[in-house]
Amino acid sequence: MKSALLPWAIAMVLSALPVPWLGERGGGQTPAQFRIGFGAHDITPALGKKPVYLAGFGKNRLAKGIHDPLMARAIVLADGDKKIALASVDLVGLFFPVVEKIRGRLPGYAYVGVSSTHNHQGPDTLGLWGPNLFQSGVDPAYLKQVEDGVIAAVEQADRDLRGATAKIGLVQAPELLRDSREPQVKHDDLVVLQFDGVDGKKRGLVVQWNNHPEDLGDKNTQITGDLVWSTVAYLQEKHGCPVVYFTGTVGGLMTTLGMEIKDERGTPLKTGDFARTRRYGQLVGQAAEKALAQAKPVVLTPFLIQRRAIFLPLDNQFYLLARKLGVMEREAFRWNGDVWHAEPTTELKENQQLCLKTEIGRLRLGEVDVALIPGEIYPELVLGKVQDPPDPGADFPDAPIEPAIYAQLTAKYKMILGLANDEIGYIIPKRQWDVRAPFCYGRKRAQYGEENSVGPETAPLLCAAFRALAKGQ
Ligand SMILES: [Zn+2]
Repeated sequence: MKSALLPWAIAMVLSALPVPWLGERGGGQTPAQFRIGFGAHDITPALGKKPVYLAGFGKNRLAKGIHDPLMARAIVLADGDKKIALASVDLVGLFFPVVEKIRGRLPGYAYVGVSSTHNHQGPDTLGLWGPNLFQSGVDPAYLKQVEDGVIAAVEQADRDLRGATAKIGLVQAPELLRDSREPQVKHDDLVVLQFDGVDGKKRGLVVQWNNHPEDLGDKNTQITGDLVWSTVAYLQEKHGCPVVYFTGTVGGLMTTLGMEIKDERGTPLKTGDFARTRRYGQLVGQAAEKALAQAKPVVLTPFLIQRRAIFLPLDNQFYLLARKLGVMEREAFRWNGDVWHAEPTTELKENQQLCLKTEIGRLRLGEVDVALIPGEIYPELVLGKVQDPPDPGADFPDAPIEPAIYAQLTAKYKMILGLANDEIGYIIPKRQWDVRAPFCYGRKRAQYGEENSVGPETAPLLCAAFRALAKGQ
């Protein structure tokens, strides 16, 4: 959170044309029809009446102006049988209960997913960045505005539903990431989907990239979508179609801060300067174009939807304190050791451990497999690159390696939406957890990360639950 979703969709379905693989299902069937629609709605907070606390770095950072509007962007996908809505919001994160409210207002969808880009230059939507330790930075009226904005974006995308074909491209762009925490493991897959109408015209792009939108740094006071703003602006202008950007794997920790970014003439650009963030967006956009240049047709139907609520024990003392102070509002459950079930609790008795309720998901859209992870997962856990052997300084060097998220996805193409339907903070491999001396890598102090994680059991429980979900257990 100091600094911090989505991939997937495509289709190959020409409603009017015979589609060979459908023929195998026997005669007389209506061909499954892939359709997609795009929508967007402004969710910029009003300035002037109430203070707007910017999220992501220190407390009490007040917004003084608006550089570019914050957006809720959405796609709706249909396979002829079911509809799926996926939205991306230019926010630091949304808690699960807010997403549940949005879902309650969008009946008629087999799945509604809301992923935050993890923007560090928008309003506090979690409660941690108010004026002081005792006051939340969240304006409940603004959360309602976000709810309404996401619904408006989804409804617009729904009205825009039309038959389309899809292609998918992927490039590795390690040069566009800095990993600010050891060990050095990056998730550098940039995934792009392009949708074309049956008339051959470009309908829209979906981009999934894995970085913290925090390029403007902790001194900025202008509301902006940060690097998502500049990436979307570049691609929209070049391609003349809607662009939806999803944030994927950002833990571990993926950032542009401390990275050199140069302009076209090779002059380094300064953090806090919009020219730098604009340039970074241009570079991501150009990488996306490289991916598109080699993109392949992809089939996005039929849809298989898997999701389950899970419970994770709350070990983080800072979060527990924030809860007690009423800064972080969220229903508590009593932890009983079962990741699948827990009872709500209002009063905490001695020695009772709390847990939170969140959700994991997997969407198999034809040849594209999408993991939906409710926080900032470390690349190690997505790609199966957990440190082995562990550093002897680690707090739990004997912890088993968690089952990797991408190893559970079986379709040809893989994508990940981070901060999906929730923001539970960092999801850290247990054997890389390091808050006690001696510290890993010979360091004198602990690295940044654990203070924004629910606890050391998060990754083992979540990754095992995801494996069970994907296997249909
Ligand atoms: Zn973060």
